Amino acid sequence: MIQVQKAKSIIKDHIFPLEMENVPLGQAENRVLSQDVRATFPMPRFDNSAMDGFAARSVDIQGASQSHSVTLKVVGISSAGSPSELALGSGECIQCMTGAEIPAGADTVVMVEHTSGFSGSDSVQIFLETPPGKHIRKKGEEIREGDILISKGTRITPSEIGTLATFGYGEFSVVKKPRIAIFGTGDELVEPGSKLRSGDIYNSNLYVFAELVEKIGGEVTMRNVIKDDKDALRSFLSRALNTCDVIISSGGVSMGRFDYVRDVFMELGVQEYFWKVAQKPGKPLFFGSGNDTLIFGLPGNPVSSYIGFMEWVWSVLETMMGIPESKPTTGILTEPFPREKVKHRYLFGQAWLENGKLVCKPTIKIGSHMLSSSLEANCILGSEQGEIPLKAGDEIYVNILPWKNIQ
Ligand code: AMP
Ligand code: MG
Repeated sequence: MIQVQKAKSIIKDHIFPLEMENVPLGQAENRVLSQDVRATFPMPRFDNSAMDGFAARSVDIQGASQSHSVTLKVVGISSAGSPSELALGSGECIQCMTGAEIPAGADTVVMVEHTSGFSGSDSVQIFLETPPGKHIRKKGEEIREGDILISKGTRITPSEIGTLATFGYGEFSVVKKPRIAIFGTGDELVEPGSKLRSGDIYNSNLYVFAELVEKIGGEVTMRNVIKDDKDALRSFLSRALNTCDVIISSGGVSMGRFDYVRDVFMELGVQEYFWKVAQKPGKPLFFGSGNDTLIFGLPGNPVSSYIGFMEWVWSVLETMMGIPESKPTTGILTEPFPREKVKHRYLFGQAWLENGKLVCKPTIKIGSHMLSSSLEANCILGSEQGEIPLKAGDEIYVNILPWKNIQ
């Protein structure tokens, strides 16, 4: 049995980065950028109008007001997509629509509301003095050409998609999705939707795994519930070792009579780095690799499996995908946290903000079979071993479940 910190550092030594591939913009949601994205031009690309109105020379309309209007000659029109080629002379203006290029010579825009309005007439009355620069979006005021818009390792959300589109990226390079094999073992496992016979239980773990893989942006390429049967396991695993980046199992790595998984890994030449970590739940955690595939054997108890994925697999997948490691979060306990004498202790918990500080409490359902403890949880709390429980007011590690909110 090894310590959690030691096990984490062993895993770190074996993580490998995934390759990259190009994807079209429309299929980029939730992918991770594999290179910095730079501005291919300044934004705005040219001086343009922030309002519908008249582009004018500010010197010509000095002193203009409701009672003392200034009349300007309308010499043209500039609209978004159809800029005017004209240059303004003294006493001239042009109709200029939102987003349209400011014509040469103009240094201000008068909103149409402060004029006699758009019309077919070749003159317009201006009722308001507007200073130089008014209602003009300056070239490059938002972003300079060549600036990094989005850094490598960023997950693509609607904000990134919008920015990529703005700068014309129809296709770009992202990290390949990790190909993941998930499997469960146990003769007792039955699929949800079918009938339970005595002794059966529903396979919930693979549904949790599949959902977590989806959330992180991986792809489940192999998935199966394998009966406690070595041959079936061998054939699944040998294919998974050849085609997947990561294999994640639930169950079958404990000390039970039918816990074959580890034996079959060994037969297939998998290198074991550790098996059994000083933690609760999930002591019989297996980690190894074979054929450029990382292998996590998580115990079958639903809480051990779920917490095991979040504590051991999630961050590994993030690192493989090139997502920068985030600093661990801590919170202040509002209630005691039951520690273990020789094991790291993880429990689902609730975290929320109080006066701007993160506070938290563990679930009261502490059994590793009690998956309903995850229902009201928005985080996993973890503490190193200790003789006595942590008390209210103590600081504790908090792993916020990324899809949950903190209120
Ligand atoms: P094991 O690690 O195989 O000894 O399994 C420990 C416990 O977890 C047993 O009660 C199993 O029935 C249960 N279990 C194993 N696999 C699953 C699964 N896929 N879904 C839900 N429970 C499971
Ligand atoms: Mg089993």
